[in-house]
Amino acid sequence: TPIITTNNLIYRYGDGTEALKGISLTLNQGKKIAILGNNGAGKSTFFLHLNGILKPLSGSITFKGERIQYTKKYLQALRQKVGIIFQNPDELLFSPTVFEDISYGPRNLGLTKDAIERLVHWAMKETGTLELQKKATHSLSIGQKKRVSIACVLSMDPELLILDEPTAGLDSYYAKKIINLLNQINRDGKTIVLSTHDINFAFEWADEIIILHDGKVLGNGGREEIFLQK
Ligand code: ADP
Ligand code: ADP
Repeated sequence: TPIITTNNLIYRYGDGTEALKGISLTLNQGKKIAILGNNGAGKSTFFLHLNGILKPLSGSITFKGERIQYTKKYLQALRQKVGIIFQNPDELLFSPTVFEDISYGPRNLGLTKDAIERLVHWAMKETGTLELQKKATHSLSIGQKKRVSIACVLSMDPELLILDEPTAGLDSYYAKKIINLLNQINRDGKTIVLSTHDINFAFEWADEIIILHDGKVLGNGGREEIFLQK
């Protein structure tokens, strides 16, 4: 079953750049999905549509069968369910300590203190950041920051986790650890979508692959289907 569908999304930036030229896709629940594409293909622009940060010029998006509405209330609920982890972890990390960063999201969800603590603890445990919780975020290594930024989004208990090039800038040891972590989160029931330049990795890791080029979908499907289209 789809968690997200998009129908003919078109998006143009203020300077006239047409970043999405009619994107129709289905993202299936519980899957590991890789989006392949060169710089400028439209991956980040596409992601920003999935939690309503950007609104398409035309076309529509559904989340679990319901069309996304651009009201404050709807978007707030959507952003809890659809978590985006950007390439640069510093964009998410701004509190004095790791613990405060990770608990920031759930504290704004209007949950009980108990529920907040459970979520934060679960997110730290899942990402291996429990022992970092008292540290200052700026003192962490890049791999640690990456894990903390994943914990920040995970602590909101999203259903869909979107990561923009999660292993970019990491050496293969830390890249592997991040991928293992995403696999674990996926086994625990979350849908994972990530973007990458790395074709070999995408084919090895993903259940479903989407190839974007110049704002359009070049190919889409499982490993075998993708080969048939090419
Ligand atoms: P990717 O994530 O695949 O590298 P992007 O979604 O960032 O691709 O970019 C798609 C296209 O939109 C590119 O041509 C890029 O230069 C352009 N673009 C991205 N952000 C902006 C922006 N803020 N203003 C104008 N053009 C942009
Ligand atoms: P790029 O930086 O080219 O966009 P990625 O960000 O996907 O590519 O990956 C960065 C580096 O980490 C690449 O050298 C890639 O081979 C490596 N890598 C990615 N995922 C894995 C993995 N699961 N196991 C081992 N190495 C990986």
